[in-house]
Amino acid sequence: MQSKKYLQLTLAILKPHIVKSPFALQKIRDLIIDNNFKVVRSRRVTMPREEAELFYKEHRDKFFYNRLVTFMCSGPSDIHILAAHDAVAKWRQLMGPTKSYQAQYNAPDTIRGTFGLSDTRNATHGSDSTESAEREIAIFFKDFDTKKWYDSEEIFFNFGRLHFDPISFVHTIDKSYLEKQNEHIEE
Ligand code: ADP
Ligand code: MG
Repeated sequence: MQSKKYLQLTLAILKPHIVKSPFALQKIRDLIIDNNFKVVRSRRVTMPREEAELFYKEHRDKFFYNRLVTFMCSGPSDIHILAAHDAVAKWRQLMGPTKSYQAQYNAPDTIRGTFGLSDTRNATHGSDSTESAEREIAIFFKDFDTKKWYDSEEIFFNFGRLHFDPISFVHTIDKSYLEKQNEHIEE
């Protein structure tokens, strides 16, 4: 099957203070679904320090680096691969500005405006480009093959019927629908 790239993938992280707060977690999950993102993969993990350091390596010389990495390793985060049209920009728009206080002032209805507690604890992460998304997905989903996903799954995430499991918070391709389609083709 040919890759068409109708959908973009982005990496979203719900940071530790969100995972600790069931209300905030549910609200952000609802926003993801209500905004028509498809959840391609999900995992909950307390980040090992080496992974957090690799993930944030572009910030290693910043004054907030140590505090950021320590916070990210302080408890479980929910990490998601999200698919949507223009997913990178769309997710960053929903998140709002990086700095929570600025977000509270200028974009109070965004995720960071609503759930950010400080410039470090700003609720969520979102890739800033498709290249970053690919790099970040490879860090946290080592067995995820982006090319293979585009070749064999994207079309179903875009046009097909999906099953959504709200507990594991992931969309999967509805196999019964696929089988019916195949029967139809064979007839
Ligand atoms: P974004 O997450 O919006 O892409 P950056 O890539 O610039 O923002 O920063 C990565 C993370 O570092 C932010 O999400 C935030 O947790 C933290 N951070 C950024 N700027 C500051 C700051 N001035 N003080 C404390 N933490 C910061
Ligand atoms: Mg960034």
